[in-house]
Amino acid sequence: MKLRGARAILFDIDDTLFPTTEFAQRARKSAVRAMVKAGLNAAGAQAYSTLRGIVRNKSSNYQYHLDDLCVRFNHKRDPKIIAAGIAAYHVAKAGIRPFPRVRKALLALRKRGYGIYAASEGKALKQWDKLYRLGLHNVLQGAFISEELGCDKGKAFYVKIARILHMPAASVLMVGDREGKDIIPAKEAGMKTARVCKKGAKSEADAKIADLSGLLKLLR
Ligand SMILES: [Mg+2]
Repeated sequence: MKLRGARAILFDIDDTLFPTTEFAQRARKSAVRAMVKAGLNAAGAQAYSTLRGIVRNKSSNYQYHLDDLCVRFNHKRDPKIIAAGIAAYHVAKAGIRPFPRVRKALLALRKRGYGIYAASEGKALKQWDKLYRLGLHNVLQGAFISEELGCDKGKAFYVKIARILHMPAASVLMVGDREGKDIIPAKEAGMKTARVCKKGAKSEADAKIADLSGLLKLLR
């Protein structure tokens, strides 16, 4: 079995540990609804599609999506409308939960003696915020975030992690949903890989799994 010999396991966060895309959509829709109610001059669907455009153009780490949305339709920054959106967004964000079998699978892997860590691209504060909200901050033994390692998820990112763990790359297994970020560069660094994906998806990963509980069987 190709995954045998792994001693540490790295997990991508977004759309691997929890349904990021789904939650982000829900939070943004909720923000837009609240802003329309507070006086944004737009219909909900129109405002939502405009917000999606703003997020695409300015990246998800930009701080003023809702300010820009307000200016777009009301031609000025209206603090009341923006605050309505921020409050609704935060309520939705407080509701993030891991995928159903994640917590149990992580605890089982830890019990079996694997070192388990998050390996994620993004801002460290934002990614740790997610781990705390998901209640996984003390289940995982640590997190490697691209901002702190000084490089995005490429081969160098994974090489650095193996070095920090004092392990040969072949003893590390990377688990994630994105072929180009989680699988290919980790493989290039010499790690084992498992891709979380739908049945039938093409992947160069050593294994494909539907969710993290699949990992338990493969590592047996
Ligand atoms: Mg991901």
